[in-house]
Amino acid sequence: MALVQDTGLVLRIRKFAESDLIVTLFTDKWGKRAAIAKQARRLNSRMGGVFDLLNQVEVVFYEKVGLDLLSQGSLIQGFPRLKSNLETVSIALSSGRLLNRLLPCCQPERQVYALFTLFLEVLESGDVPMDQLQTSFTMKALTLLGHRPHLSSCLKCGATTDSFSFVAHRGGVFCPKCSQGRGIPVSCGLLLSLESLLRFSLPRAGVVHLSSKDIQLTNEILTLYANFISP
Ligand SMILES: [Zn+2]
Repeated sequence: MALVQDTGLVLRIRKFAESDLIVTLFTDKWGKRAAIAKQARRLNSRMGGVFDLLNQVEVVFYEKVGLDLLSQGSLIQGFPRLKSNLETVSIALSSGRLLNRLLPCCQPERQVYALFTLFLEVLESGDVPMDQLQTSFTMKALTLLGHRPHLSSCLKCGATTDSFSFVAHRGGVFCPKCSQGRGIPVSCGLLLSLESLLRFSLPRAGVVHLSSKDIQLTNEILTLYANFISP
């Protein structure tokens, strides 16, 4: 049984037995882990309150088959400002749920960990429009995890045109001729904006203009696509 120290972000918590917690952590060096925090729900527990959703924590755990065993946990940052606003907290939670679905178990994804940490820090700062920030985060996370959608030309014939259709189960866009009525219509302009979101860092996501209609449509296609990748 190896004893391991790392930092992590809390993706999910479940009550277990009388006073335990099962915590899904996205750790920096050890990837996504499920761990049990014994007696963490007791009033006098040293780990009480440490494992709230989206907290960044420092942990020491015993690596075990199935469930790791948490031995120590302390809070690094709890993102209080983000959590005091219903809109930002729901954006952060839905991004955390997406990561929980997409991340393989026990496999380091250090760039994605750094990206999610930065995403929460920028949301906490309130400096960047939150919808654009979320779209940018989702595009970058999909790309880093090897699921970048194909948005630059028709997947079948390679044509570039003014309008495309996004077909979720094919992971990209098709021209009107090749789409044959399938998929969700998207403009070339929106696809260019999404591609440029990938070029700017998260703190600069606000420089790419996206209307509220664009944001809504993007959320729709990325949700369909994520559901296809990880049902
Ligand atoms: Zn085509």
